[in-house]
Amino acid sequence: MLEEFDMTEIRCTENQVLRALEADITTLHVDAIVNAANRSLLGGGGVDGAIHRAAGPELLAECRTLHGCKTGEAKLTRGYNLPAAYVIHTVGPRYYSDEPDKPGLLASCYRNSLRLAQEHGLHTVAFPSISTGAYGYPLDEAAHIAVRTVMASLASCPDVHEVMFVCFGASALRTYESVLKEFDKKSI
Ligand code: ADP
Repeated sequence: MLEEFDMTEIRCTENQVLRALEADITTLHVDAIVNAANRSLLGGGGVDGAIHRAAGPELLAECRTLHGCKTGEAKLTRGYNLPAAYVIHTVGPRYYSDEPDKPGLLASCYRNSLRLAQEHGLHTVAFPSISTGAYGYPLDEAAHIAVRTVMASLASCPDVHEVMFVCFGASALRTYESVLKEFDKKSI
């Protein structure tokens, strides 16, 4: 299903792989896509808007039952009209806010999303680059946190076999590719 995309990958364990690819996350046939949502969980712009448009109104109806989500936490819904079975909604920190420990909050988004995936027995999870759009996090900094946190979290998520970093545009892909290569060298 993903062969059409040009991908860079690194293997974390014998059956766990990380990949970076350029794609619209709403088109991916995976067990779960992650939504960079806001605290209301009632939809917004960017990837959140794209996910709600593609999933249809039933997604918003389920989101209304969740009563929002705190920054750094994650909640799961079904995927409805998306090719992905589930959506994991997480709320990243705003880079230019007075929230304390923004790197820690961004790391929590990745960790808590993977914990939910593991709890639901999901094998393939696709992340957008959380907080790097409207929330203003510098892409390179955010990509380092994303890759480092996912690599560290996979040990406690043995059922998650594949994590995708979905890049919106060629320049984002180049950033993630270089960060993945950096971490790949460190693990040798
Ligand atoms: P945030 O509010 O967390 O910053 P945004 O949706 O504004 O969330 O942006 C997060 C990232 O998602 C950005 O890097 C943006 O380029 C990317 N993005 C936007 N739309 C899509 C999409 N359809 N698929 C994948 N990534 C997307």
